[in-house]
Amino acid sequence: MGALFTKARKRLREASKHLDIHPDVIEKLKYPKETLACSLAVRMDDGSIKTFKAWRCRYDDTRGPTKGGIRFHPKVNLDEVMTLAFWMTFKCAVANLPYGGGKGGVSVDVKKLSRAELERLSRAYMQSFARFVGPDRDIPAPDMYTNGIVMAWMADEYAKMADAPTPAVITGKPIPLGGSLGRDDATGRGGYYVLRHLEKDLDLIPEKTRVVVQGFGNAATHCARLLHGDGYKILGVSDSRSAIYDPDGLDPLAVMEHKRKTGGVAGAKTHGSAQEMSNTELLESECDVLVPAAMENQIVEENAANIKARIILELANGPTTPAADQILNRNHKIVIPDILANSGGVTVSYFEWVQNKAGYYWGTEEVHRRLKENIEPEARRIWDVSQEKSVDVRTAAYVHALDRIARAVEAHGTKAYFAG
Ligand code: NAD
Repeated sequence: MGALFTKARKRLREASKHLDIHPDVIEKLKYPKETLACSLAVRMDDGSIKTFKAWRCRYDDTRGPTKGGIRFHPKVNLDEVMTLAFWMTFKCAVANLPYGGGKGGVSVDVKKLSRAELERLSRAYMQSFARFVGPDRDIPAPDMYTNGIVMAWMADEYAKMADAPTPAVITGKPIPLGGSLGRDDATGRGGYYVLRHLEKDLDLIPEKTRVVVQGFGNAATHCARLLHGDGYKILGVSDSRSAIYDPDGLDPLAVMEHKRKTGGVAGAKTHGSAQEMSNTELLESECDVLVPAAMENQIVEENAANIKARIILELANGPTTPAADQILNRNHKIVIPDILANSGGVTVSYFEWVQNKAGYYWGTEEVHRRLKENIEPEARRIWDVSQEKSVDVRTAAYVHALDRIARAVEAHGTKAYFAG
């Protein structure tokens, strides 16, 4: 068992302490249901063959087909894929989607591939994993360094093997190939709906709330744009190269435009008092809400005590380590955890799958409405669990999700059988 997975799995035991569930539930969720490892032999442009290690994990499918992205990254390994699949199991349960959790990955540096090599690698992935995935079995989606085009190549490869277009086998597709409207901003929008819904509970007044966002990609920009539109003050943003912070507030749309033109946030025009700083400094800057929206392990034991924000809205997956969590809790910080805060993405992926299966497509407004209607009651329930059980919001989210998964496992007869 890898270190990351062992750490992640501790959440299971912690959450189970707050629930009356049959021990069989924990036993069933201790290990992934199945994992497939393949070597993808890909023809490179120079005529040689290069082999890439690839995985797909279906963690648990009690509540439905497994769902989760495919990550292309040099550091991807089995431990990471299993952990991400475990998190997806809980995220899908938090969002009350009829899915279990899955994840895939390829150990590759996409920056070293030509576009043709990337296409052959993506198609090779689907050739090897077609027997493992399926529209009613396991439904991949994009993740780090995979996007709609990669999904389109994979869907095409699956269609060739199935001898029929099968758009529901994968989500995050381009709109003309069955993608959903509203998927582009779904993750940031979901986080925005959660924060706004819990505004009173969190003692937030938009016009008086200062927000700092780490990262300025898909998840971050849309959340910042929407919060800014409702009066929240966005003081700082960053990308992989630098960070900017303006105590008078930034206009995220102007920063987005600047990043589009120059490739980065540095030098974006602001109200005049902006400072450039390091990403580390940005995380520790003066604000009320910190939104980590870049990558995992950003709030760690070493910097957790320096975080000034009172509320942390986790749009990234796993930005806070368990050790940092303890420090934040001790300092009375409120963390709205990833499995709730960024669940808007998988929710609209689910909507895409539903539309593909029905062959009937919705407008953007309908997607937004359904996302809001789906995520708000889950945020409310999780908040209530945290109050009722006097636990932090992350533990409450795991308790809420585990309760749902446990009810599904027990509905197979576990309790009745043993009770009888
Ligand atoms: P993205 O590639 O669009 O954006 C990532 C941003 O982070 C970029 O602006 C990049 O410059 C910045 N970044 C990278 N390294 C950084 C660093 N060290 N410090 C500061 N900024 C850095 O990615 P995204 O889709 O927005 O995903 C961001 C996070 O949100 C990831 O953890 C991802 O797993 C999570 N997430 C995304 C979605 C989604 O639908 N996009 C869904 C769920 C979770």
